[in-house]
Amino acid sequence: MTDCVFCGIAAGDVPATRVLESPRTLAFHDISPKAPVHVLVIPREHHPDLASLAMAGDGLLDELVAQAHLVASEKGVAETGYRVVFNTGPQAGQAVQHAHAHVLGGRPLAWPPG
Ligand code: 5GP
Ligand code: ZN
Repeated sequence: MTDCVFCGIAAGDVPATRVLESPRTLAFHDISPKAPVHVLVIPREHHPDLASLAMAGDGLLDELVAQAHLVASEKGVAETGYRVVFNTGPQAGQAVQHAHAHVLGGRPLAWPPG
């Protein structure tokens, strides 16, 4: 999709520090990290949000969540704990309309979130 920064990253047109790749997903460092580990996992295919990704119903969401866990393992936070967040819609602060999982860890994470 033109005009989508994460489609640009998936295509290699927008630079990003890649962490992991799988056939249908890509993980890279968030440009503005909110924790010592802050990695985004995206589907290569454009979906506007989590619900769209889930409703595609072809295992893509499963692959993305499995990759989020692999990212946590690679970054050394799988044992200490980590959070996977899909901000959806304006009140949740979704700024990029291409579905993405935030993988956050490396420090205690407050609950409830702000
Ligand atoms: P959202 O607020 O939509 O849940 O999260 C979007 C995230 O994407 C933010 O944490 C923001 O820092 C990150 N982000 C936005 N543009 C870019 C970019 O061009 N490159 C990278 N690596 N991260 C980005
Ligand atoms: Zn996109």
